[in-house]
Amino acid sequence: MKAAVYYGAEDIRCTQIPDPVIRADHELLVKVCATSMCGSDLHLYRGALDPIMEKGKSQTGHELIGEVVQVGKSVGNFRPGDRISMAYSASCGQCYMCQVGQTAHCETTQKAVYGFGIPFGNLNGTHAEALVIPYADAHAIKVPKEISDAAALTLSCNLPSAVIANRLADIQPGESVALVGCGPTGLMTLDISLHRGPGRVVVLDKVPHRLEVARQKGIVAIDVSVEGWKELALAETGGRGFDKVIEIVGYPETLQMCLDLVRPGGTVAAIGVFTDASFNLNLADVFLRDITLHMNGFANVQPYMWEALRMMERGVVNPQAYFSHTFALDDVDKAFATFHKKANGAMKILLQP
Ligand SMILES: [Zn+2]
Ligand SMILES: [Zn+2]
Repeated sequence: MKAAVYYGAEDIRCTQIPDPVIRADHELLVKVCATSMCGSDLHLYRGALDPIMEKGKSQTGHELIGEVVQVGKSVGNFRPGDRISMAYSASCGQCYMCQVGQTAHCETTQKAVYGFGIPFGNLNGTHAEALVIPYADAHAIKVPKEISDAAALTLSCNLPSAVIANRLADIQPGESVALVGCGPTGLMTLDISLHRGPGRVVVLDKVPHRLEVARQKGIVAIDVSVEGWKELALAETGGRGFDKVIEIVGYPETLQMCLDLVRPGGTVAAIGVFTDASFNLNLADVFLRDITLHMNGFANVQPYMWEALRMMERGVVNPQAYFSHTFALDDVDKAFATFHKKANGAMKILLQP
């Protein structure tokens, strides 16, 4: 079958690999109807994990809408023909970490993640014609036909992460909120935040077309590549700083932005995927200003997939609106390049096998 495989930095290609087969009773074989790309795939693309990737072998992709083809003997929740999505991290549902809701820290799968190669459990990826889902009962979900393929793709990662960001920030009515990063996940986070009755809301990014989407919602959108952005943002709070700040990017600079924007006693909720090993945290500053800093780690998506589904069904968020491009799986290299450069108004990108 066709699948996207990692060959090196900025070199992810569609290639032929052996068809996936079920090897354990808890597995599902799924035909991929559509898949998509996530900001975290860009860490892989730009070579951040290059030294630990198996070049020419590791598959990519962790966002899925698919159809069940074959069901392992012990799988109880699914039948052939079911339309499903799954959490990007494979969790067993049985171990201690799964039972306390830390599904991304599953002790059985050893924190396995789809589409990131050997360092993350050596699972297959969704950028393919088909894939195997282990422990399917624990982290796959049936998707109603009313939910479009594009919208359903956000169940694997982006939308539950946006739900988690809002839970961590715990926005109270009237509170001022700053969101650092307004890519697709940032915009979904914003949509949910706006339903929590905030006061002043500001988004910060440096990609003009993404800022424009926020602006069209009536939000103050600030370009951080323009000098004076910080003063401009803080002026929205009378210089005091924001009650709640949400980070949806994953770089030391963007985390520092959040610490610069939050008021004393405020909360920073960081759901970006961080791959840097060090950060020059000013402990005395965080201590003296009484800042609550939530680092989310790999998001525990599975427990929030139902909530994400409900939000789509009830119109709180319409993720389909954030898809800008569709590429054939054959052109996965072009899709990655477009997404990486944020070229041609790129937002979320759908891949069609
Ligand atoms: Zn993701
Ligand atoms: Zn587990």
